[in-house]
Amino acid sequence: MLANPFPDLSNEQEDALKINLQQWALTNGLVMYPPNFEPCQVNVAPITLFPTPIPRSCFDSANKVQKLFNELYVSLVSKEKSWLVGILAELAQFDPEFTGKLFEIYQKSIADGVLQPLSLGIFRSDYMIDSKSNEIKQIEFNTVSVSFGGLSTKIGQLHNFLNANGFFDNKYNFKYYKDEEIPVSKSVDQIAEGLADGNYHYNEDKKYAQNTIVLVVVQPNERNCFDQRLIEYSLFENHGVRSFRVTLENIVDKITENDGKIYVKETMDEISVVYYRSGYGPDDYEVNPAKTWHGRFLLEKSKAIKCPSILTQLSGSKKIQQLLTNEQIISKLLPKLNKTDLQLLLSTFVKIWPLDDSEEGKLAAKLAFEEPQNYVLKPQREGGGNNIYKLDIPDFLKNLKKEEWGAYVLMELITPQTYKNKIIRNEEIFNEDIISELGIFGTTLFSEETGDIKTNKNAGWLLRSKFETSNEGGVAAGFGCVDNIHLY
Ligand code: ADP
Ligand code: MG
Repeated sequence: MLANPFPDLSNEQEDALKINLQQWALTNGLVMYPPNFEPCQVNVAPITLFPTPIPRSCFDSANKVQKLFNELYVSLVSKEKSWLVGILAELAQFDPEFTGKLFEIYQKSIADGVLQPLSLGIFRSDYMIDSKSNEIKQIEFNTVSVSFGGLSTKIGQLHNFLNANGFFDNKYNFKYYKDEEIPVSKSVDQIAEGLADGNYHYNEDKKYAQNTIVLVVVQPNERNCFDQRLIEYSLFENHGVRSFRVTLENIVDKITENDGKIYVKETMDEISVVYYRSGYGPDDYEVNPAKTWHGRFLLEKSKAIKCPSILTQLSGSKKIQQLLTNEQIISKLLPKLNKTDLQLLLSTFVKIWPLDDSEEGKLAAKLAFEEPQNYVLKPQREGGGNNIYKLDIPDFLKNLKKEEWGAYVLMELITPQTYKNKIIRNEEIFNEDIISELGIFGTTLFSEETGDIKTNKNAGWLLRSKFETSNEGGVAAGFGCVDNIHLY
């Protein structure tokens, strides 16, 4: 099967498409705050005009492998916890100011016993499609604060609206794509369902657990808050569960603890699940380190279910991702995995090298200097803007103390096919080569003590695209945009 080419519209038709797209987006919440915003003013989120082609086989594999990845990480933080903790203790030494502090809170929070063994994962596994093999290759597995589940549903609905109303057709206002070629991600409702699962099990399986609420920990002045709000509103509409937003800095002022349970001070609403959309990078704590770190500790040791717990958050480290590409380690974590599933998991990996004293590490150091154009160097950081690409790698390493190299991993670059889609950012339409990254959401509720899995679900997808010329793909950071899938 061949993908449809992108619609070829006249200037007038593109103008009509643009205004319809903008007004639909504003009406339905496909929006973001601009920099330095007033709370009453929003912009259309940066998006593509058209959906970008994704082979159906790749999309199916990515969806199919998600529950296996969920299970892999569950097993890591529960059944192989001591192994994980050992590695994290080493990472903490490389990065005392962030990983170290999180690790310290983890240790302090379990010192007097664990009040809540249940843990909620809302994950997103990101892939690019390698143009040579035409297979999905994992960029990163995210275990904390995964974003764009909200806007992804919205762009799917928008493109379906535009398609059904003929704005993609340049002759007769027919549908340019068949409906099944542009499916809509159910991530808004399915991520909300993950939170509802947490709320339900917190209440020891009482069916109508509508009195407890979800605490959403957010960044101050969050420009992407509508993406989060869509999930909060779905949680309320579909499950009757309310939510309360707080910044890391305000936790100690707004939240109170009694007998391990935590409550919103003002209303005494009991909190069942703490949902982090902040706290994944050092900047989040720097506003007021004493207060933010203490706030994180207060929540971590409480009886509320954390999404994610510190251990689950840290299991998303790049170093752990590197270790998990090893077949023996996977087989140890998932001993019952059948051959087909094992092959499927393994087929999603490109080579990731350690940069330590091991033989592999030494080989990697050589590669980093001899053919840096094929690699990206990654530190233990989340949230974009931290990686070192291609020819920048040798100088970067030269300026880094040898003792610090072990904190980095060297990853083979994936080269996806480029497409000439159009990106709309404010009033401007860009027509450049783009590359896309497919993210698959998954939710899982499990016991960190026993590894018992209560739920393990797929939760929709996300396509993000960026100019081929830019290394990074952050949407809020201004590098990329939210895209939509055209299956072929
Ligand atoms: P972060 O935690 O900052 O999101 P990522 O590992 O996701 O770190 O890298 C950020 C971006 O860099 C990705 O979204 C992708 O665009 C690009 N990137 C990362 N790894 C690779 C790779 N192996 N091949 C090609 N591009 C990559
Ligand atoms: Mg990423």
